[in-house]
Amino acid sequence: MISRRILIRGGQIYDHDGNVHKPAAADILIDGDTIAAVSAKISPEAADEVREASGRLVMPGLINAHYHSHDVLCRGLFEELPLEFWLLYTLPLGANRSDEEVRARTLVGALECLRCGITTVQDMLGLVPLADAQTDVVIAAYREAGIRVVLSPMVWDIPPVAMMRGGGELPPVAQDMLGNKPRSIPEQFDYLEHQFKRHPTAGTLHWALAPFAPQRCSPQMLQRCAELAEKYDLPVYTHVYETRGQRLIARELFAKHGGSLIDYMDDCGLLGRRLNIVHSVWISRPEIERLAAADAGIVLNTLSNMKLKSGIAPVLEMRRAGVRLGLGCDNCSGTDVQSVFQAMKMFCLTAAVSDPEPGPELAHEVLRHATLGNARTAGLSHCLGAIKPGYKADLVLIDLNDTAYLPCNSAARQLVYTETGRGVESVMVDGRWVIDRRAVRTIDEEALRREVSSLMRHFIADYEAVVKSRQAALPHILAAHRRVWAEDVGMDRFLPRAQ
Ligand SMILES: [Zn+2]
Repeated sequence: MISRRILIRGGQIYDHDGNVHKPAAADILIDGDTIAAVSAKISPEAADEVREASGRLVMPGLINAHYHSHDVLCRGLFEELPLEFWLLYTLPLGANRSDEEVRARTLVGALECLRCGITTVQDMLGLVPLADAQTDVVIAAYREAGIRVVLSPMVWDIPPVAMMRGGGELPPVAQDMLGNKPRSIPEQFDYLEHQFKRHPTAGTLHWALAPFAPQRCSPQMLQRCAELAEKYDLPVYTHVYETRGQRLIARELFAKHGGSLIDYMDDCGLLGRRLNIVHSVWISRPEIERLAAADAGIVLNTLSNMKLKSGIAPVLEMRRAGVRLGLGCDNCSGTDVQSVFQAMKMFCLTAAVSDPEPGPELAHEVLRHATLGNARTAGLSHCLGAIKPGYKADLVLIDLNDTAYLPCNSAARQLVYTETGRGVESVMVDGRWVIDRRAVRTIDEEALRREVSSLMRHFIADYEAVVKSRQAALPHILAAHRRVWAEDVGMDRFLPRAQ
């Protein structure tokens, strides 16, 4: 079969290794799903379709390296909630939902990503129950949207209540609400291997493994994850040190692993080049150095960590240790928006208030983290994250007529500091226009809006019932939360507390 060839002509091409402030104009030839050539002048005769791109910045598609599609419909429902309180509501609202709701929430999240120039999303999927039928619904929705997905259904054998320090001492009613039922290890691994066979990696579908968090997984579970990652050559994502309480959990429950969740993962064979730890707010400097030495990565989610009152990750310490970095946007009810532009800006601003000395200039660097760095988390940096021959044709055209570029003094700085997502004009994934001059080609947006509006009647009724029922647990969660903050953990990741 002869593949379709598209010529994108005359755009300014963002090259990580070129002039990141004033990118040179060039032509890009796309052959099927792949960039075939990038050159000052390519003959239009070589192409089936020619897209004029003068006045456009062509950048590699952004990658969202941490996200969960299961709570998209909770967007805007919560604020001022620390993580453990928020889990009380979002865990039940993501579980045991209808196929229609699972499809709609997946499409809405994918659509928002695409509108914000995200061409690949890592979905750490909270599917309850873990079963074929809704896995198919999720994969079909991603195919329909046309976004590239690195899909990793979350697995664990220790119940959700273990997320909270002191969770085991809560009264049974509060434990029940957080979730206190274990899961079978063999059933979950059978499920995963079954999905890898039913939906093999191809086109825009990629797989990853996601043990929920080290404290939610027994050594046997983590060892099985390490074996499976090796067997299928898969990346691994897991939540680590998101909250202050998790630092205490490490000290109190993992003393025989040096009081460190990183040591615990190492002892289970998981610390290595495939591993990406998500959040890492309450990580120590020696632990960051161990990750760097092992070529493991950190996926930062600064916006959600701040909104959920977890704290601020030590980004400059991570940078100085040379650990590889990625960026994510996390849950729609934790950050509320899937925007890597916001995540990039937050990275630079967090670094800025971490050191009063001038520099370093980080805009071009964070653009690397959000493209090549995030591709590396998924083991895909050889084919995603840059505009080069042989790379996948995952591209975003930014309209330089937008006021964010009036005047355009630096592509890198203005993408990071002034772009809101408003400039995203066209998005190509795997050689296919998914957003074409602001129109979504794949999803019927109007029909999706109607569908969501109809689903929300039932969803909001469930939300109100959940909020009401959780009242009984709140005083206990608050007491446990205050005990966490009364302890000294030997580091600080919070702004000075208001008096
Ligand atoms: Zn997460």
